[in-house]
Amino acid sequence: MANTKYMKWIQQHKTVLVLLLLAYLFSVGVRLLWVYQNGDMESYRHNGSFMINTNDGYFWAEGARDILQGGHQEYDRSPVRQAASQLTAFVAQVLPFDFEAIIFYMPVFLGSLIVVPIILLARDIQETASGFVAALLASIAWSYYNRTMAGYYDTDMLNIVLPTVLLWSLVGAYQTRLRMYQLIAALDILVYRWWYPQSYALEFAFIVFILLYAGFRVYKKHSIRYEIELITLMLLATLMTDGLIRLGLVIVLYLLFTREKAGKYLYLFFGVSVAAFFITGGFDPIWNKLQGYVFQNTTVTSQEDLRLHFFTVMQTIREAGNISFELFANRISGHQITFVLSLAGYVWLCYKHRIMLLALPMVGLGFLALNSGLRFTIYAVPIMALGIGFLIMQTTSYMRHRSLRYIAAGGLSILILLPNLLHVKRYNSHIGPVFNKQEVQLLEKFGNMAQREDYVVTWWDYGYPVRYYSDVKTLIDGGKHRGSANFPVSFVLTQSQLAAAQMARLEVEYTERDYARKEKNRDLPEEQREPIAPTIEQMTLNHGFKDTNLFLQSLQLERIKLPEKTRDIYLYLPYRMLSIYPTVGLFSNLDLMTGKSYERPFFYMTQQVKQDRQFLYFAKNLKMDKKEAVLQIGDSSVPVKRFVQTRYEQSGLQTKVQRFHAQGLNVLFLKSYNTFVIVDEQTYNSLYFQLYILENYDKTLFEPIILSPWAKIYKLKI
Ligand code: MG
Repeated sequence: MANTKYMKWIQQHKTVLVLLLLAYLFSVGVRLLWVYQNGDMESYRHNGSFMINTNDGYFWAEGARDILQGGHQEYDRSPVRQAASQLTAFVAQVLPFDFEAIIFYMPVFLGSLIVVPIILLARDIQETASGFVAALLASIAWSYYNRTMAGYYDTDMLNIVLPTVLLWSLVGAYQTRLRMYQLIAALDILVYRWWYPQSYALEFAFIVFILLYAGFRVYKKHSIRYEIELITLMLLATLMTDGLIRLGLVIVLYLLFTREKAGKYLYLFFGVSVAAFFITGGFDPIWNKLQGYVFQNTTVTSQEDLRLHFFTVMQTIREAGNISFELFANRISGHQITFVLSLAGYVWLCYKHRIMLLALPMVGLGFLALNSGLRFTIYAVPIMALGIGFLIMQTTSYMRHRSLRYIAAGGLSILILLPNLLHVKRYNSHIGPVFNKQEVQLLEKFGNMAQREDYVVTWWDYGYPVRYYSDVKTLIDGGKHRGSANFPVSFVLTQSQLAAAQMARLEVEYTERDYARKEKNRDLPEEQREPIAPTIEQMTLNHGFKDTNLFLQSLQLERIKLPEKTRDIYLYLPYRMLSIYPTVGLFSNLDLMTGKSYERPFFYMTQQVKQDRQFLYFAKNLKMDKKEAVLQIGDSSVPVKRFVQTRYEQSGLQTKVQRFHAQGLNVLFLKSYNTFVIVDEQTYNSLYFQLYILENYDKTLFEPIILSPWAKIYKLKI
């Protein structure tokens, strides 16, 4: 009877099943605390569902939406062929919930799966209890929580689960030599590659480790048939070919290996898979990556005629710096002491179970964070958690009384969880959605007005969400923000209206055309490919200039001949861009011919202002003499050219401009936001300030479409 067979199986695995369930529920439960803490935040909801809190999530959401609606626009960068979008679309079709609720809760349920491979791995080395403690810790450890919390809808939700499953299968393979583990390893690689194509480095490292182990067995004169089969299947799974072909190869070979006779041809299969690995370019990404590390710090320079120098994004990204040991340890284990003990526990674990050395690639990747940026720390989380779990169980096992042992182990476990739980509580209170309700409503309204082929020019931070809510095209986004791509958009947002308008039209038409050219190139052999220079360079040359600076100047002075208009262009100018205006400006505030940055424009923004009869105090060294209309900046004084007040009323934006001096800085008081901004003349005249802050647009160039305090959308008339 099938039923009794199942019952027997459940009976046999009762303990591990209960532990899996408990750990999983714990992980899900902790993630739901966010909902509990933020349940009454109305602005966090859209159509009743909480909105996601990661920018990149809108990329996958766009792809999933397009899969569900059955199509998308050419060159709109929608990831309909990528795993995260495909899985989401599938889940949305199967489950009866709202799409937005699905993407919000996906990380909660998928990220929590991390407990499964941790507990199963520990069980395979007869350390199940350690695995349970490790699973609890890993599932909510600082950095792992941050990147898999409710609403953090990104590939991270499976990025650690999948390599940990691989690790489990390899440990299981070593411990049991069951064929099942060979298949799990190969299938996991297939899924991992599908989910996260950058995964090859880690897969490759695991293969190298198994190879080393096989070499060790040869030295010990043990059979290596099992290891060669395993490596063959893993190599086939990593080939640089279509996923379905790899799946077919893996299954066929696996079935072959189960036959005793196949042993004769084992080395033939192995040799062919090694050859196929190199021929399909399996090693290339590793090679390129190594080269990438060596040349990481070079600036982006076009290889074409003008050799333009663009601003590199690396210079502004926070993650890519060295981090302190304290932060590093906190992010992996929640506390420095826990981290150090985890490390000791891991060493001990490796001493007792040599196979745990196999986890070194993940530990190594996690430790890369010390000089390559925060995002890598999560790789070390499960392994370090196993370290401390093992340490706790091992040390308490010396206690004689059973109940005392349980109390000690339980107490210590709670102690290591505590800093992480406190982190969760703290972190939850300041993590909200990417956009608030009002912005989203506005974007949806706009989406109904615009065509899907139309472009929205806006800063890259808003690219994905704008595309998701409005289904339009954008020039730059979370995945396209190189210096050369950011330059034109930065230019549009921070230059005067005429130059900005002309650049917007130029950049959109050149970008669309280049997508088509790039696609054509892809089908050609390398030597026949047409080199594609950065758009700015093409514009400069096409308008008869040899110096980009002169070309850019010409945009400021007069109407130039623009390419034929193929679609409408809109500008999305949100309030939230105000605080990052200086960063936006960095990308175009440089001489492209030399790469030298110009002097930074003056920009100061504050919401904390005090005043007395004579002065407005903006900061310690910055105050304004109200009577004289002079700013005191440190020891020097600068006249105030204009004092501008804006505020929203029923009828719309009201602005009052007082002119004081012929020259100097401009002080703006945005009453409805209770914000002061002090800027120089160039910034004051920029498109963002004129169109967003003052609604002072050139009627021959722009037409307002939506004017809200949260964001303003204008249509380009040229
Ligand atoms: Mg589209």
